[in-house]
Amino acid sequence: RSKELGRNSFQMYKASMNARSLERLSMQSRFQSALENGEFELYFQPLKCLVSGRITSLECLLRWHDPNLGMISPAQFIPLAEELGLIVKLDEWVIDRACAQLAHWQKMNIDVRHLAINVSAQHLTQGDLVNSLHNALSKYELEGNQIELELTEGCFISNFQCAKDVLSSVKKMGVSIALDDFGTGYSALSYLTKLPIDILKIDPSFIAKIPDEYGNSEIVSAIVAMAKALKLHVVAEGVEKQEQMRFLQKLGCHAMQGYLYCKPLSQAAWCEFYQAEKLIS
Ligand code: C2E
Ligand code: MG
Ligand code: MG
Ligand code: MG
Repeated sequence: RSKELGRNSFQMYKASMNARSLERLSMQSRFQSALENGEFELYFQPLKCLVSGRITSLECLLRWHDPNLGMISPAQFIPLAEELGLIVKLDEWVIDRACAQLAHWQKMNIDVRHLAINVSAQHLTQGDLVNSLHNALSKYELEGNQIELELTEGCFISNFQCAKDVLSSVKKMGVSIALDDFGTGYSALSYLTKLPIDILKIDPSFIAKIPDEYGNSEIVSAIVAMAKALKLHVVAEGVEKQEQMRFLQKLGCHAMQGYLYCKPLSQAAWCEFYQAEKLIS
């Protein structure tokens, strides 16, 4: 009986393996056709200076509108694209589109100083990030100092030396480096001084628990103090409440990002938001 069971479960395993590899295969071709059919779109979310109230930069956030499944969150498809080895291609598409958009806004007199682009760990070690950036900047006649790259700590863990070399080349182009989701990674704090990091983005999970959960305000206040002592620019992500914003302002946190100020917007919605904001400021 147990032999029988064993064989059955083996067959089931085999069947699910096949299903999974089929799924992988179809995902791979779906990504490809999604790129070709324009199913990917960039959304933009402004970061607001907590001192001047001005918009300091816009973060580019990828959206996938699948004709059958509807909108798929990047939290779902980015890890999949990484697993399938497609992330570098996707990141390169984002870099090109983001730069094209920035150049277009400049022509329309929409004053966006900086655009923040998320980059995957794999892009640092496998792709040619320096080249992709260089190509996009020269194609759209932009300066490096108009771009910020957002990286997570995962980027430095697999190959520190390689990441360091890529980042110093990128820095030479004038591009700024932000450490995203700060506080949730494997945080060897020494990264902050060993790598050319300019900006810390405090993970929204800390902000969400302010003021209710014990210890979170203290952690955020310590992160802000450390960032300032290290002369880093510090941004709080996921700010949803007035109370959180006031707390951050009091700490001297430089900028905030979150639904309280603005959700990620399509390019058309962003232009409307910008025009409305310009009228009041
Ligand atoms: P992230 O870079 O940390 O982006 C911030 C995420 O927080 C975004 O989710 C944004 O929509 C969300 N968010 C902003 N304000 C609030 C708020 O007040 N409350 C809450 N609850 N959430 C807020 P999104 O757009 O779903 O992106 C998720 C992650 O996917 C990003 O995290 C980033 O790691 C990745 N991602 C997005 N676009 C790209 C891309 O173009 N390339 C790469 N490599 N990764 C990307
Ligand atoms: Mg980000
Ligand atoms: Mg983040
Ligand atoms: Mg994230």
